[in-house]
Amino acid sequence: MDDKQVSPADLEKIRGVSSLLGVGEVECDKCGKIIKHLDRYCLNAHECPICEALLDNTADRGSHFGEHPSETPRGTRYCVDCSLKAGYLRMVRNKKTGVVFPSMFISRDEEAVA
Ligand SMILES: [Zn+2]
Ligand SMILES: [Zn+2]
Repeated sequence: MDDKQVSPADLEKIRGVSSLLGVGEVECDKCGKIIKHLDRYCLNAHECPICEALLDNTADRGSHFGEHPSETPRGTRYCVDCSLKAGYLRMVRNKKTGVVFPSMFISRDEEAVA
């Protein structure tokens, strides 16, 4: 990752969160919206998608999912709207092109949009 990038979000808050592109169609665990193929979304690997418990490490997660035996252990998906609400993504503008898009990090050619 480019070390000149800075995070617009609280680093503690985005611990365990990754910004990903949808593969196929998946559902947002927060609002149920469909995240379309190649749409951006965030995955919080520390949050149980079923009961919203926050789990600090993978060992906790493994034993926690024993409580939800029918579910495959995974993190919680946040669509762009829910990611913006949770503070995982910010809207940033590319200074050269003026294009505004949601991002977890801001590179030196970009600025946060209030
Ligand atoms: Zn959502
Ligand atoms: Zn749970």
